[in-house]
Amino acid sequence: MLKKTSHFMREANFIGGEWVGADSGATIEVVNPATLQTIGTVPKGGRAETRRAIEAAETVFHSWKKTSADHRAKLLRKLHDAIMDNQDALAELLVMEQGKPLAEAKGEVGMSAAYVLWFAEEGRRIYGDVVPSPWADRRILVTKEPTGVVGAITPWNFPSSMLARKLGPALAAGCTVVAKPASQTPYSGLAWGVLAEEVGFPKGAVNIVTGSASEIGDELTENPLVRKITFTGSTEIGKLLMQKAAGTVKKVSMELGGNAPFLVFNDADVERAVQGAMIAKYRNAGQTCVCTNRFFVQEGIYDRFVEKLAEATNKLKVGSGLEDGVQQGPLIDEGAVRKVEELVADAISKGGQIITGGKRHALGGTFFEPTVITEASPKMRLMEEEIFGPVAPVFRFKDEEEAVAMANDTSFGLACYFYTSDLGRAFRVMEGLRYGLVGINEGMITTVEAPFGGFKESGLGKEGGHQGIEDYLDTKYVCIGGLGL
Ligand code: NAP
Repeated sequence: MLKKTSHFMREANFIGGEWVGADSGATIEVVNPATLQTIGTVPKGGRAETRRAIEAAETVFHSWKKTSADHRAKLLRKLHDAIMDNQDALAELLVMEQGKPLAEAKGEVGMSAAYVLWFAEEGRRIYGDVVPSPWADRRILVTKEPTGVVGAITPWNFPSSMLARKLGPALAAGCTVVAKPASQTPYSGLAWGVLAEEVGFPKGAVNIVTGSASEIGDELTENPLVRKITFTGSTEIGKLLMQKAAGTVKKVSMELGGNAPFLVFNDADVERAVQGAMIAKYRNAGQTCVCTNRFFVQEGIYDRFVEKLAEATNKLKVGSGLEDGVQQGPLIDEGAVRKVEELVADAISKGGQIITGGKRHALGGTFFEPTVITEASPKMRLMEEEIFGPVAPVFRFKDEEEAVAMANDTSFGLACYFYTSDLGRAFRVMEGLRYGLVGINEGMITTVEAPFGGFKESGLGKEGGHQGIEDYLDTKYVCIGGLGL
């Protein structure tokens, strides 16, 4: 059990390089979802604290943007090393507030470090252009500059790595950041302040403010000093932030909700499909934006797939994330369990058959049984709503055209997966699916080298890949005339 004295468990905000409480002294309680015990408190900051953080970020931005890409890369490399040196402690902290199994938490922290390292290097490859000029006596340059102060808001399901994908490119590009982690998992966010301080980033380059989402969000979106908002979370809040950011025409990047389909064709390798399905469905207890929300399985393979999926699902070990061998932790809170219960009840009322699971787990609290539901149909709520829980509804389809149409019948477009051994079909289906991320015969595809981001109401912009730094840069056209050539 992590002690309150843990080096990384800060109960203060990091503003302008100082660790401070909320002006009012108010705090928010943080609960361990596995035990439902309070593990500590963090400041309930608001507009005034956020404004000070923005001002600190703006002040240091003017010197930070002038540092060399190499200097910033060296600091980011040190940050990467500091994360890896403390991977176990950071992972334990993450499990305490978020609930996922320790092995997954270690993986997430490792992923955070990998994003930081990737962007340390990408920052050194921010190239401009020299464009052929239409005028004999003029030359044209295109340069890239850091956008300025970035407001970053992140969710509870990946409390470490979602910040890494924002802090890494922002700092590498020469921007400074005011970050607001989710109130349910603030410690992994505040830990970035501890790390930034230790590594030696200038005061104010990284600021972490916890507290009232609406107050912090309003200041970040309305303050003209903030030039970019980067948000990961629900589509509902993303839309709200886009509207608010419009007032001062900020850049926005939005990583929003998903409704991932997982298609299994008759010609698929069933064993491999089930293996992929387990990762794509039950990782983080089904609480990821890229988790499969809907399985679509072709008639000829439906029964075999369901049988094997149920068999593998039954074997999942549920428990506290800190226990050895646990593969599925609790859901984040009671509200999440109620939502899952509602969606399961709705599916049953519309003809769904529970093959395994289907209710709260005997462990009590917010644990839920890994669940498989067959005979799923488009009229069920889970056809469009994110389940965000360990429930696998399996739809049946006849042919490729029907499968692609059902998969696309949603306002979301983040991740999708499909299994086939037919190369022609692989290309046809890949080109037909309107999703930003496509896994073909793979159930987990996120990696720092590739651009992550959704189509349609799943978002705007990309995180990771060489594209991930672009959103933190402004492009400037320079015309040099009077050269007398
Ligand atoms: P959420 O309710 O939208 O919250 C996300 C963040 O927004 C939290 O920090 C929250 O603060 C903050 N927030 C809430 N209301 C706000 C407001 N009025 N102004 C400013 N900030 C506000 O989402 P969530 O339930 O934490 O996360 C789950 C969602 O995130 C799912 O839809 C999932 O698909 C999506 N997600 C997407 C990606 C992706 O890359 N596309 C990755 C992970 C998750 P409080 O915690 O203080 O309320």
